[in-house]
Order: sequence, then structure tokens, then C-alpha cells
Amino acid sequence: MTNSLPIIRLKEGRERSIKKQHPWIFSGAIKEIIGNPDIGDTVQIVEFNNTPLAIAAFSPHSQIAARVWTFDSSQKIDKNFIKEKIEQALIFRKKINLSHTNAYRLIHAESDNLPGIIVDKFNTGYVVQILSAGAEKWKDTLFEILQNTDTPSWIYEKSTDEVRVLENLPLREGFVFGNTDLPITINENGIQYYVNFAEGQKTGFYNDQRENRNLLQKFTKDKTVLDCFSYTGGFTLNALAAGAKEIVSIDSSQEALKILEQNIALNNFSPDKVEILQEDVFKILRKFRDQAKSFDVIILDPPKFAPTNKHVTKAARAYKDINLLAFKLLNPGGTLFTFSCSGGVDAKLFQQIIAGAALDAKVDAAISHRMTQSACHPVSLNFLEGDYLKGLICHKK
Ligand code: SAH
Repeated sequence: MTNSLPIIRLKEGRERSIKKQHPWIFSGAIKEIIGNPDIGDTVQIVEFNNTPLAIAAFSPHSQIAARVWTFDSSQKIDKNFIKEKIEQALIFRKKINLSHTNAYRLIHAESDNLPGIIVDKFNTGYVVQILSAGAEKWKDTLFEILQNTDTPSWIYEKSTDEVRVLENLPLREGFVFGNTDLPITINENGIQYYVNFAEGQKTGFYNDQRENRNLLQKFTKDKTVLDCFSYTGGFTLNALAAGAKEIVSIDSSQEALKILEQNIALNNFSPDKVEILQEDVFKILRKFRDQAKSFDVIILDPPKFAPTNKHVTKAARAYKDINLLAFKLLNPGGTLFTFSCSGGVDAKLFQQIIAGAALDAKVDAAISHRMTQSACHPVSLNFLEGDYLKGLICHKK
């Protein structure tokens, strides 16, 4: 070995996933730690027999005890390394052509070889989430490079996700460069949205649903639409753009619904077409069923019910519940847009849950489209955890 980094030696047999270039080392795979690495420090990962495997960042407080920066053990982790990864991320975004939006994910963590780093571009600036100890260690370098990447006029750090607690990192947010009044506006597929990243959820706006929101336009002209878990109205606004007849938009967040209302005005859509309700989707679907309400198109875009495999059984029940009710509320010939962003529920299981829901609702339906996250959220072939969003368009017969 040419470097003098602290060493993490793996138990015999526990090198398999690293050899397949999966970037996580779980604490249970570690045989011994040689040296005294501090939180976030760069460490050399070696096999039981000392064969170098990877260079990683040490996360002593997390079950994911190290996250790989590179599988090339001769590489040095420094400013140039981070810069090169950001440049690669930028080249990828240019290649997939994002000219239809000024809001997109610039860095998608592990899938862009920058574990724990999320950067969303919103029109004139960047919202950054730092989610792991290794990312935390390099945050100032990251901010410095981002300031010189496509000349943003502001950078806002939103390191408030609860995964930071697992890494023993403090929650933190605020402008790290420049400033802007809030909300800002973005333009996605010709529709304008206000984004208030300081008050909003996650980075402020869900860039991952961009293409699916656009796809909704094909199915909503002159239709009655129920947008469940609407947030600031991504799907609602696309239904309006397509000429939907009436829309009911439901979310539990008053702040999100206030922005939805402002978004309708921002785009000069008619507010009379939209009924906005601050409700629990689980309850309102039952109420609508009891009132024998029905809709031509229903969207179900819930939050993550199963962050990990441990939560799958409970999550499956929740997905089945809302989908079963939605199938019942659909008019004959109606269309269901249904999603799961749970890492613990894969596409196959999700389809099984939806099939079970249709069966119990006594509905005959067929899938026309399988949806996924927008292309600015790439999935590294060695990191399938990055493949988190799945959706189905189902048509009731
Ligand atoms: N479809 C949106 C994103 C939805 S994110 C878009 O395209 O932008 C999930 C939303 O579900 C959040 O806005 C959250 O406030 C809301 N939510 C979570 N649990 C809920 C519940 N039980 N009932 C209603 N809304 C809920």
C-alpha cells in the first residue's frame, strides 16, 4: 500500500459486495480498525488478507460505517477529486438534455460517486444536503467548487435531514454563498412554480417527478382529477395545463397548500377549478368512498412509507390501503397514477401490492406505463438503492 491512511480490515468473506463496487461498508463487516480515524476521515479499506479494496469515508456512528469514495486505492481524496466528480455530474446532466427545465438534480449522492451529497439546482442557485460524515468533512471544499460551477448567485445548505442524527452530525441550514428573496420561481416544462427551500420539504421541490407530472397531461383533458399528497401542486398544475375539468388537491401540509394556491395564480390558471383540502389522505379517501364520490383520474404520490427493509410489511399495508380505496373511487375507464418512493419496496413488490389492491377492490385494471425517477437522478448500476422511485399508470376497465 502506498498511502498511510488508517486502515479498515474486513472480515473474511465480507469483501464480496465491495468487489461488486457497492459503496457501503456495514459495521458488522469490519474485523479491525488500524490507526485512529476521526469521524469523516478518509480510510483505506482492505480485505482480510490486506488486499486493498477501496478508499472510503469513516462514519463511526452509523451502521453504514464507511462510504466508498473510490475503488481505485491509488487515488487521493482531495479538492481535485471532488472537483472531478462534480464535473462528471455536470457532463451527465448536459448529456441528458435538461433544456425543458431550470430545476434539476445536479448531484445524486452515491450515484454520482459523491456519497452523502445532494445538490438540486433551482433556476439561479443550488440547494445542498450534506448527509454523511465524509460529506461533512469536505463541505467547505464542495461549496467552494460549487460557487465556480455554472456561476450560481446563491447556495443554500439544507442539512436538516434526520439521517444526520444517525451520523451524529448537527442539523444546520442557511445561505453559504450569496442570497435570494424567497420564494424563488422555477420553470419546468413551461409551468412555473414557487419554491421556498427554507420552509419547504427536503430541498424544497421534488425534481424526481418531473417527467411523470408531464405525462399526466396526456390523461387529464376534460377529466375530474383527485391529486393525493399534492405538496405544492406538481400534478395539479399539469392537470390544469392539460385542461382538466375539476381537481381536488389533498395534502396534510398547510404551508405546501398555500404555495399550491399561489402557483395556480402564478400560471394564470383558474382557481375555481381546484378545491384544495388540508386533510389526511387515508381519512379523506374513506370519506369520499362513503359519500360515493368518483373521479376520472387519481394520483397517489405518498411520502416514503418504508425507508428500509425493516418497514416493508407495514408500508405494504399502507400502500394497499390507499390504492384499494383509489380503485374504488375511480370511474369506469378511469386512470390511476400510483407511486412509491420507498427504498424497501422494489418495483416487483410494488406491482404485487397494486394487483392485490385491485383484486380486493374487485376492479379489473391494466398497466399502460411504468414510471421511474427523472433522468437527473441517475442510478449507478452497482448501487440499486439509488433506484427508489417507481410508479404505475393503471386503467380501470
Ligand atoms: N406530488 C408532489 C410531491 C409529494 S411529496 C409533487 O409532485 O411535488 C408527499 C406529500 O405528502 C408531502 O407534501 C406531505 O406533506 C404529504 N403527506 C404526508 N403524509 C400525508 C397524509 N397522511 N395525508 C396527506 N398528505 C400527506
